[in-house]
Amino acid sequence: MPSAPKVFVITGPSGVGKGTLIRGLLERVPDLELSVSATTRAPRPGEQDGVDYHFLTPQEFERRVAAGDFVEHATYSGNRYGTLRSELERRLESGAGVVLEIEVQGARQVRRAMPAAVAVFIAPPSREALRARLIGRGTDSAEQVDARLQTAERELESQPEFRHVVVNDRLEEATDALVSIVRGEIDGGGSGRI
Ligand code: 5GP
Repeated sequence: MPSAPKVFVITGPSGVGKGTLIRGLLERVPDLELSVSATTRAPRPGEQDGVDYHFLTPQEFERRVAAGDFVEHATYSGNRYGTLRSELERRLESGAGVVLEIEVQGARQVRRAMPAAVAVFIAPPSREALRARLIGRGTDSAEQVDARLQTAERELESQPEFRHVVVNDRLEEATDALVSIVRGEIDGGGSGRI
């Protein structure tokens, strides 16, 4: 019997609602933990080091890339983001399933490095909806919103690479869909890789 998948990659464009969907997923599926990523981006108001991200200087990030400390890493909107191997392994060793909230380049790297991982692409109901959400959350300047939307165009093209796609139109329905994909993969004990 193949063992149940332990690593779940939640990917899709910035502003699509990955974080909110993941919060709903973690409330409803026990024994899942969210991996805390590293980034060189400046903390937003209210973000805490070690909780929202491990905030690293560009030098420290590159040192850790060279040391092979990352499972995956990518440049996104001029900043570096990555999943630390230590962060992932510590959680897996404790017996938890681990959720990675990452952009598409990182999701591809995880697919290569960990074929047993399960990836879910979160899509917006429309490009207009994505723009409205990025502006509405108020965390990015107008230039940053434009840059993120340009990146989103490329990311949306990668959607067919992913077996699981959830359209985040109504939050409750999208959360149900994500929960059922994850439960199905856990109960199925290992069918349907990315
Ligand atoms: P934000 O700056 O809005 O927190 O994140 C920007 C993008 O980077 C989002 O799409 C987010 O999912 C992605 N991201 C966050 N952590 C990681 C990571 O560890 N690796 C990769 N590849 N992307 C990440």
